[in-house]
Amino acid sequence: MVPNRDTKKPVGQPYRSTFILSVKTVQGLQKCTICGKAGVFNREYTHDCLCKACFCKSITEKTRKAIAKNNMVRYGETVAVAVSGGKDSLALLLVMNELSIKHGSRLYAITIDEGVPGYRDESIRLASDFSSKLGVKHVVLSFKDLYDLGLEDALEQREGKVTSCAICGTFRRRALDLAAIKVGADVVATGHNLDDFVQTYMINLFSGDIQKIKYADPPASSNPNFPVRRIKPFQEIYEKEIAFFAYLNDIPFQVASCPHMNEGIRTEVRNFLNTLEMKHPGIKQMTQKSAFKIAEQLNKGDSSKKMLEKCEKCGSPSSGKICSVCLMLEQFKPKSKISVTSRSSVQ
Ligand SMILES: [Zn+2]
Ligand SMILES: [Zn+2]
Repeated sequence: MVPNRDTKKPVGQPYRSTFILSVKTVQGLQKCTICGKAGVFNREYTHDCLCKACFCKSITEKTRKAIAKNNMVRYGETVAVAVSGGKDSLALLLVMNELSIKHGSRLYAITIDEGVPGYRDESIRLASDFSSKLGVKHVVLSFKDLYDLGLEDALEQREGKVTSCAICGTFRRRALDLAAIKVGADVVATGHNLDDFVQTYMINLFSGDIQKIKYADPPASSNPNFPVRRIKPFQEIYEKEIAFFAYLNDIPFQVASCPHMNEGIRTEVRNFLNTLEMKHPGIKQMTQKSAFKIAEQLNKGDSSKKMLEKCEKCGSPSSGKICSVCLMLEQFKPKSKISVTSRSSVQ
């Protein structure tokens, strides 16, 4: 078993979310509101009961509308779907594949291998198998290839209070950009859902992180920290519905969570929001709309987002002279001769 510094969870053991189990047992007591066939899903915030076909179609349609409304993908662009092997990203790959066939855009699946033995091996296999089933080209880039440093190595060397998620997130965000550039993608699509969005928004509110709240404005969708545009086509869809969509479509996905995951306050915020949603169906959507409005107001006439510098070491967009990835690499590999971009440019 791999040593685990953050939690007591062993690597590779499945932690099945209770909502996935509960959602599987939803019984269609009523007929489909749209077509009259046997219903399988009660959508409480609209008071609709949907059959399998109408439910799946509604997910694809909601995704298509979110993309069109926010101009997420422009005509002729190449999209790289970041596929972790979890339900959200694999479901996104399925939907984006369907939409790309209809709209003639090119699609890639990209997976970042952080170097977590057991956990990541399983997810790469799931991502790879599902991509080839759909006929989508799958590209895997590892921390080891890009930075000459796996996550386990970094965790061994870390000092102070920096969390594994902070280290991993910093390296992974850059790795996704580099993978997208490698396949010639104009945009990276991630599987973030409505629940992720609202949880993050609440956490940013608690910490007063105005800058991050600004980036919630989807039409602006221009977080300058990312050289390749980021989109979240599932951002208006409930996590529960994506899980059910993945189940109905027989998508084999990874249920194990990362053994290094340290969610902090997020678990409490998630539980709080789920309780609230049960009592007041649709409140997560209302919170998101409120976040969009606030972000829009914050972005009006604000040009500070465009004032990023270039990192002196690697040339990436950076708020300081040296970007966060290079700073972190210096911390872990003070004698490193490898720069992020020089490695990444190797095809
Ligand atoms: Zn129906
Ligand atoms: Zn840099």
